[in-house]
Amino acid sequence: MREILHVQGGQCGNQIGSKFWEVVCDEHGIDPTGRYTGTSDLQLERVNVYYNEASCGRFVPRAVLMDLEPGTMDSSGAGNNWAKGHYTEGAELIDSVLDVVRKEAENCDCLQGFQVCHSLGGGTGSGMGTLLISKIREEYPDRMMLTFSVFPSPKVSDTVVEPYNATLSVHQLVENADECMVLDNEALYDICFRTLKLTTPSWVVSVLNAMYCVGILSANKGCLNVPWATELRSEETCSEPHSFPRLHFFMVGFAPLTSRGSQQYRALTVPELTQQMWDSKNMMCAADPRHGRYLTASAMFRGKMSTKEVDEQMINVQNKNSSYFVEWIPNNEMFRRVSEQFTAMFRRKAFLHWYTGEGMDEMEFTEAESNMNDLVSEYQQYQDATADEELEYEDEEEEDVQDM
Ligand code: GDP
Repeated sequence: MREILHVQGGQCGNQIGSKFWEVVCDEHGIDPTGRYTGTSDLQLERVNVYYNEASCGRFVPRAVLMDLEPGTMDSSGAGNNWAKGHYTEGAELIDSVLDVVRKEAENCDCLQGFQVCHSLGGGTGSGMGTLLISKIREEYPDRMMLTFSVFPSPKVSDTVVEPYNATLSVHQLVENADECMVLDNEALYDICFRTLKLTTPSWVVSVLNAMYCVGILSANKGCLNVPWATELRSEETCSEPHSFPRLHFFMVGFAPLTSRGSQQYRALTVPELTQQMWDSKNMMCAADPRHGRYLTASAMFRGKMSTKEVDEQMINVQNKNSSYFVEWIPNNEMFRRVSEQFTAMFRRKAFLHWYTGEGMDEMEFTEAESNMNDLVSEYQQYQDATADEELEYEDEEEEDVQDM
């Protein structure tokens, strides 16, 4: 059995995580008390990927929940300060979290990896979350580390230091995670208001979260062996993400997205879904795929439909857009946005004392800034590479060096 250990941390991570479990439990037909009440044998297939089976026959989610302040809704124990999560308050608690992680990992037959749900804009999910990720990486270097990371946007939150927290986190995620699903609050905000035509802000968060879960469920299939994979039809256009070990930030597109009012006028055909899922308006990251190219892509369809039609549509997408399917990933735009926000503050050393007051060295800010800028240039480099030959040429050069 290839188990996954789920970890969720901080306010946002716990919100999204609990939605995630609602959806997973529903998929598997498991009720809130852990009893199976499903209707199809398929639901119990590979149930052990996400659940431990207790001796009484109930299913217990294999999940570790962490926070610095239990039960708070709007404030965080780390006060939106990455340094508190990573170096002081979070660091004090990290060993007890690791004990729980270790215990869960030891109970597994063959752990395939970890998935972490957190936001990057606050203090706990971001600072303590990345601390935990680095500790897990140290202890389980050969297990997959997948993250669902919520990127901040001033449209959704007005905490000024979020770009600091996010950049310091990205600095960690570049080194210690294998795959990061980018969940960008800026894009989700636009989806809610422009596409779903929601007007009530409180809905925004729950709709965002629900969509993230669906995104998580679908995106997960990309690298981990999830239970519902058998029901999915996937067509991989190219799957070599690990040729670019640092460029492991993925955009998730989701369809159908329709406002309640116009639901009845929308046809849910395979071509319609295919068109929507590649549309920039349906991306959970504020970046436009038309401004670049795909380094790798994977599409999943759920529900009753003709697999032949899906295959045809996917070939169609690749043929029509062949120029986009080369060496590029579009997150550049989102990283650039956060990086500009970071630099605007860091140039004036604004709010830096909050961090240095927790014992952080200014140097780490400089390093995080340049790591993020490097990431932007690396993505840009592949975007600018005009032809496959150029990349092949580089590969050959590398081989030559190794030969020598
Ligand atoms: P932490 O508890 O210290 O990890 O801090 P938070 O998780 O509250 O981090 C703040 C960031 O997370 C901001 O960018 C918020 O916009 C975002 N955030 C907080 N709660 C939610 C949520 O439930 N859904 C979404 N999508 N974003 C959230």
